[in-house]
Amino acid sequence: MALVNHVINTPDDPEGETDPRTKYPSQEFEPQTQDYPGWTEAMNPRPDHGEQSYVGHHRMMGMRALITGGDSGIGRAVAIAYAREGADVAFTYLPEEEQDAEQTVQLIEDAGSRALALPGDLQDEEFCQEVIAQTVAEFDGLNVLVNNAGFQMTTAQGMEDLSSEQFDRTFKTNVYALFWLTKAALPHLKPGAAIINTSSIQGYHPSPSLMDYAATKAAINSMTFSLAESLGPKGIRVNAVAPGPVWTPLQPPTQPAEKIEKFGQDTPLGRAGQPAELAATYVLLATEESSYISGSVIGVTGGKHLA
Ligand code: NAD
Ligand code: MG
Repeated sequence: MALVNHVINTPDDPEGETDPRTKYPSQEFEPQTQDYPGWTEAMNPRPDHGEQSYVGHHRMMGMRALITGGDSGIGRAVAIAYAREGADVAFTYLPEEEQDAEQTVQLIEDAGSRALALPGDLQDEEFCQEVIAQTVAEFDGLNVLVNNAGFQMTTAQGMEDLSSEQFDRTFKTNVYALFWLTKAALPHLKPGAAIINTSSIQGYHPSPSLMDYAATKAAINSMTFSLAESLGPKGIRVNAVAPGPVWTPLQPPTQPAEKIEKFGQDTPLGRAGQPAELAATYVLLATEESSYISGSVIGVTGGKHLA
């Protein structure tokens, strides 16, 4: 695998590929920054979304999924996995992310699935409603809603530097959009459908520099629990995935360059996660294999504990 380095050879694992510490780069990253929202091609190293590694097993044949923020990062890894499992995949992205969106469309289509790319701003309730309407119209239904798009921006001093404008943007993108999309999707979700929200370890261990973001992730956890309670009797499962540090375009534009250098180094596995390492959990939560899992937040954190 191209990204492997710091390989520890053992007789059982001659290439070091099954050792979670060395499966991906574990040294410090080059200091780097980008304008928001960040683009995949500008990242060094390029994130791994499972392009070369994800193998589908027909687990989502005939299913229709919508992933917000599917152009890049975790959303792209989930799009690849869902498409290779046989699902048609619609995804949203910001208009300035066209380049990333085109690559994701190609990856979905290469898997033999239908792709629907929906540019727009999820801070707008009408756009959220249109996204659901267009997905349902194009795919003739919806089985899986992945509320994954998210906004974060670190503030140097916490509350003093946190503007009302930023606070509003973070809550609109991360919480209101989830509410609007889920509400619009509900009439179309049948028993067996699944909602998967992207939370964060920040929802449990808030950093002062990400106060607003962390609060939205705690809100997402709470909504995951209450939605699971209210939609369980309708046969709809609701869960969340809480990632730790993952190497995606969200990070370089929103963190100081010196923090990027050490990104993920403080996890027990000693490195940042790659988007590809999240995909299997989103597949599990979308499929019948997780038929008794609802109201859960599953951590994918490199060893850091939730709660
Ligand atoms: P990413 O930048 O690749 O994906 C986030 C996407 O959100 C963007 O591509 C963009 O399309 C979308 N988005 C942001 N604001 C939007 C808006 N106003 N309207 C429409 N779309 C908008 O980064 P990622 O890390 O893959 O992020 C995916 C999710 O994972 C986010 O919810 C993020 O909070 C969460 N998360 C990431 C990490 C990490 O370390 N990367 C850790 C924990 C949680
Ligand atoms: Mg993006």
